Amino acid sequence: MIVFKKVDSLRKYLDAQISKKKTIGFAPTMGALHDGHLSLIEIAKDKEDIAVCSIFVNPTQFNESSDFEKYPITIQSDLHKLLEVGCDVVFLPDVEEIYPDGREYVNPYDLGDIAGRWEGAHRPGHFDGVVQVVDRLLNIVQPNTLCMGQKDFQQFSIIQRMLDLKGGTTELVICPIVREADGLAMSSRNVRLNQVDRRTALSLSKALQSIKDNYKTEGIDQLIDKGKEQLSHSNIKLEYLTIVDGKTLIPLKDKSDSDYPVALVAAWVGDVRLIDNFILK
Ligand code: AMP
Repeated sequence: MIVFKKVDSLRKYLDAQISKKKTIGFAPTMGALHDGHLSLIEIAKDKEDIAVCSIFVNPTQFNESSDFEKYPITIQSDLHKLLEVGCDVVFLPDVEEIYPDGREYVNPYDLGDIAGRWEGAHRPGHFDGVVQVVDRLLNIVQPNTLCMGQKDFQQFSIIQRMLDLKGGTTELVICPIVREADGLAMSSRNVRLNQVDRRTALSLSKALQSIKDNYKTEGIDQLIDKGKEQLSHSNIKLEYLTIVDGKTLIPLKDKSDSDYPVALVAAWVGDVRLIDNFILK
């Protein structure tokens, strides 16, 4: 496994591989790696010859500076995990390497309605930062396949739209959510949950599981009302629980509105903000 900190040296290496007809799979991350991230590397490796992982805590996608400051950094253990899973290349840039001309950014892509809803509404500026960094990383790595997690469902939809508008040949692959044994979606933020909040956080995946289990027999409003009941807890501050069409992210009024329904949830558990989702069909 080779670690690069500079764009030029990474590009030189990848160009040499491309001239040998090697293909590139890429998983961008912010580090504090868990098995969910590692599954992306495995999928990248399955699909292409070379798996590249970037670790970069992107300052421009944090709408709250305290969230950025508290973001866990565990580079040594990340590198160890990447080595174990057979990652070929790690890109570990600093902020100046990613934004040599400064962090100011005017998003050139018309992302339409999907960026304004849900996470977009609750985290103003977040998706501009995500698009900014993914666009930059794609220009640097130029992968054949880009692996991103279903865990960040809306992010996945937005990056797909960005790729459609950007053109090019990179294929985006959605990678299933990896969960803890009890069902909690793995997240780098989980380490910030105390023992009690960790148990409370389980309500998110349980509420989504109930929605999935009862999707055939109950109506949309009933499913959401029951889900909200499961999430009514003194230490949970629900931001949204909704059932949307997975392509437009518009909430369903009726089940016949979509053949790709997805339940999305975002909530604060204590002082940790968590998101999760289930594809319902
Ligand atoms: P992050 O480091 O949180 O920005 O995540 C980097 C990538 O890993 C994103 O594409 C996420 O959707 C994906 N990811 C995060 N958590 C999981 C998980 N539990 N299962 C699968 N993929 C995940």
